[in-house]
Order: sequence, then structure tokens, then C-alpha cells
Amino acid sequence: MVRGHPWIYSESIKEQNRPGLSGELAVVYDRRNRFLAVGFYDPASPIRVRILQVRKPVQTGLELWRERIREARALRERGGVFSKGTTGGRWINGESDGMPGLVADRYDTTLVVKLYTPGWLAFWDELEAALREELQPCFLVLRLSRNLVDAASAEWGFSEGFRGAIGEETVIFEESGLGFEAQVRFGQKTGFFLDQRENRRRVESISGGLDVLNAFSYSGGFSVYAARGGARSVTDLDISSFAIESAKRNIALNAHHPAVNSAKHRWVQADAFDWLQGSPAAQFDLAVLDPPSLAPREANRGAAREGYAALAAGGIRVLRKGGMLLSASCSSHVSKEEFFETVRSVAQESGRPWQERWTSEHAPDHPANFPEARYLKAICLKLDP
Ligand code: SAH
Repeated sequence: MVRGHPWIYSESIKEQNRPGLSGELAVVYDRRNRFLAVGFYDPASPIRVRILQVRKPVQTGLELWRERIREARALRERGGVFSKGTTGGRWINGESDGMPGLVADRYDTTLVVKLYTPGWLAFWDELEAALREELQPCFLVLRLSRNLVDAASAEWGFSEGFRGAIGEETVIFEESGLGFEAQVRFGQKTGFFLDQRENRRRVESISGGLDVLNAFSYSGGFSVYAARGGARSVTDLDISSFAIESAKRNIALNAHHPAVNSAKHRWVQADAFDWLQGSPAAQFDLAVLDPPSLAPREANRGAAREGYAALAAGGIRVLRKGGMLLSASCSSHVSKEEFFETVRSVAQESGRPWQERWTSEHAPDHPANFPEARYLKAICLKLDP
């Protein structure tokens, strides 16, 4: 924390003057009783305090929230995140925007706020006012992360982790001139995987004439881009029927783009690990692999590496000569070096020649100021160059 890390774990707290309650503000002092920081206290989480401010004391409340939101907004404006054809993106990315445990995503005129710490609930009225003033949404949806649903739902008037005034559970927004639906109430995260936007754009630019596999497709974002980029066919592969149905609707939403309309679309509901092993080899020219986190905890790190290796091997297996592999990882417990090395060594072991085309990390609307926040990484290889 002293070196700027925004979390204090329970085991590093030496003494408390009283047991704290969920959502209270904690004031942190060093051994010599000097003020260190103020943050949200959560007795139920191993991340006992999430730091709001270090070194100098600060007045929490409307003005502070407004200031933090304005800074976050300025960062997105500098990064050119929103434009005429892009009305979806992340306005506030938690700790890295000085608002720990809070994510706010824009989907057109709807703002979806997701809380990962109960701390914000006690400040909700002021926070909501600040969000409305600074970001001017027409609709605001408030969601709780899974770990908060049981703890906080009843007390704060949530139903199934959701509180909001919204006509629809699905909001349509634009990304790079393409239409997408965000499942703002029941979808994963805040309803769409905004974090992959830059990788989707890269996929569009290389998809012309290719047969593309989109494994772990969720709502088919990569496939819509690949299709507009001129892919001959796109295959969505996901284990969930909810995801496949959403992917179908997203293709339909973009059918007015001639290339999207003329690409062949296939949907496969299956376990991607099994499918990549068992389906015929050499059927695609580009395989996108974007699994959910394979290491939700540090203890899963070894298994996660094996999982990424198995997927990359399966991905390479289904690639024709000259095909490309795009492997992504969203496990913060697996570092980018570890992940990239895993994929590279699988390519090496395949016995096929290969070339690394690019790697990527976080987009400008997902700033990441500390190691745990740097979860996303992707690597693109060309086989048989
Ligand atoms: N690539 C997506 C996001 C992927 S999220 C995008 O850009 O929007 C991870 C997806 O993997 C979820 O849709 C989940 O249903 C799916 N999934 C999880 N386990 C799976 C498995 N074993 N096989 C196939 N899909 C799986």
C-alpha cells in the first residue's frame, strides 16, 4: 500500500481500535501513528481495506466523487474511446481510476455500475448524483458482484443483485460502427466484454477471406468484426446457450453490412476444450481463443497454464497451413510473460514453423495501475509463415 498498492489484506493489519462494519471508512495509520490512508472497510473480504486516498486526508462525498469521475472522463476523452460509431466503453475502472471496487460502463445512454465492495452502498445517493451530473446517462443500472449479492442485497433493496430503473434488460449500443446488445441485467460483467474492443478491431483487419473460429465466443463480438472484415465464414463456439442466442442476435443486428450478410455463420454449443481436441484438424485460417479466467485464484495458476497450453495446442491443431492463432488470457494470476511463454512453447512443440505477429494488453478505457488489475493479455501467432 505504501508503495501505491490500493489494497490492504487482512493479515497485514496489526491493530484495530474497534471491529469495523461492512462499508465503513477505515483510517489507516502506520506504526508511529502517522496517517497513511483512508479506504473502504470490508470485514468479509480478505481485501480488508480498499484505498481511496493516500498520504493526505480527504473529505469523502459528492465533491470527491465528482472530481474522480471527471478525471476518469478526461482520460477516456484523451484516449479517444468514444466517437460517433462507438457508444460503448468503460468510464470508470475501479482502483485504477481512484474509485476502488467500482466499475461503470457506458452502453449508449445507459450507465451500468457494478460494485465489488459494499463500501459504495453507504455513499450511493451522493455517488449516483455525481455519476448523473458528470456522465449524464438517461438510465442507470446498479449491479452487485456475485460475492456481494447475499451480503448486501436485502439490506439495500436489490433483487438478484440488481437495482435500477430500466425498460429493457438488453441495451443496444455501437462499437466501431457495429451494433451490439449488452445484457445489462443478467449478462456477464456489465453485459458485454468491452475489454476486447482493440483485439476485435485487430481481428477485423486480418479476417478477409478467412474461415474464422471464435472459441469462447460469448455474444460473438469477434465474429461480427471478422465478418465485416470479409471473413468467408465465422464459427461461434461457446458452452452456453444464452451466449449463442446473443451471438445470433448480434449478427442479425449487423446484417445490413454486406460483408456480415454474405459471411457464412455457424454456431456450436459445446465445451471448447473437448471440441478443439475432437473436431477435424486444419479447418480454419484464424482461431480466436478467449476463455474465462482459468485461474480465479493463485492456487489454480499451474492448472491454468496447462489449460492455456491445451487450448493453444487445440487451436493450432484446427488451423490450416498459414493459419493464425489469437490467444487471450484474462487471469490476473497468470502474468503476461508466463502466458506468452506458454503459448509460444506450444507453438514450438507443434513442430510447425511460426512467427509472432503482436501482443496486446489493456485498452485506454481500462487503465491498470497495479499488478492485479493487469489481467488481460493477448498474443497473435502466424503458423507456417
Ligand atoms: N470472447 C468473448 C468473451 C468470452 S467470455 C467476447 O469477446 O465477448 C467467456 C465465455 O466462455 C463465456 O461466454 C462462457 O459461456 C464460455 N465458456 C466457459 N467455459 C467454456 C467451455 N468449457 N467451453 C466453451 N465455452 C465456455
